Amino acid sequence: RGRVMLQVRVAHLDGEHIVILAEDRTEARRVEMIRRDFTVNVSHELKTPVGAIGLLAETLQDAADDPDAVRHFAGRMQQESERLGALVQEIIELSRLQLQSSAQPLRVIPIDAVLTEATDRAKVVASGRHIEINVATNTGVYVYGDHNLLVTAVRNLVDNAVAYSPEHTTVGVGVKRREDLVEISVVDQGIGISPDHQQRIFERFYRVDPARSRATGGTGLGLSIVKHVAADHGGDVSLWSRPGQGSTFTLRIPAVAEGTIPVKPADPPT
Ligand code: ADP
Repeated sequence: RGRVMLQVRVAHLDGEHIVILAEDRTEARRVEMIRRDFTVNVSHELKTPVGAIGLLAETLQDAADDPDAVRHFAGRMQQESERLGALVQEIIELSRLQLQSSAQPLRVIPIDAVLTEATDRAKVVASGRHIEINVATNTGVYVYGDHNLLVTAVRNLVDNAVAYSPEHTTVGVGVKRREDLVEISVVDQGIGISPDHQQRIFERFYRVDPARSRATGGTGLGLSIVKHVAADHGGDVSLWSRPGQGSTFTLRIPAVAEGTIPVKPADPPT
């Protein structure tokens, strides 16, 4: 870390002269290390639910005569397999984002449609926990982007806001235009994140409380996906939070200039 890695090759031109080729391998090595870490983490994360399903299946066979136990263990198996499914889905999503070049054709996307789709699922979970979700409507704001990726990013933020909030609180999803940017903020009144964790939660598989994250179906990949989507759109994501008071995640994406919105959203001008 912090060191430059040079790969040096020496070639003899003739009896008197030599050529020294020095190649800066720092970035290549960094990418290689990230890839290696990712593979180690992924194998570890996949082994947990796979192991659990195996054990539960064994226990289920032993408990075959007891209908209550069968229901209990079958339910737990279903939970673990759902977790595994979510994990695989997010790993695929993240790998796709890491491979895809940011030169994707971007389209003019209405933010309102992104917010509606991104909050669908969270609304169901939230209503069961008496959490109110207030979503900005009729903002009339457009960005250049990829609808599905933006939905994934906002959905991850909203799902987290609900997952890390107590009952009878409110989650707000707001949109603000700031010159040539759009800020989408997701505000919660949840448990918050202490300063020493704030830097790290955007890392893959980093969780403040792994047990709580698992219990809420978290994979530890959500925020790294958000970060990738933001970067792919030429934007970023930032966080304000105080433990016990809540968190605000703000996604900033370049906006389509006002007055240039096509009647029917289409490809951006070349
Ligand atoms: P997870 O699937 O565990 O939620 P994420 O990458 O989405 O993974 O988030 C990483 C960690 O950041 C979470 O495990 C949690 O500790 C913390 N976190 C994310 N969003 C919030 C939030 N709104 N309030 C409190 N903590 C949060």
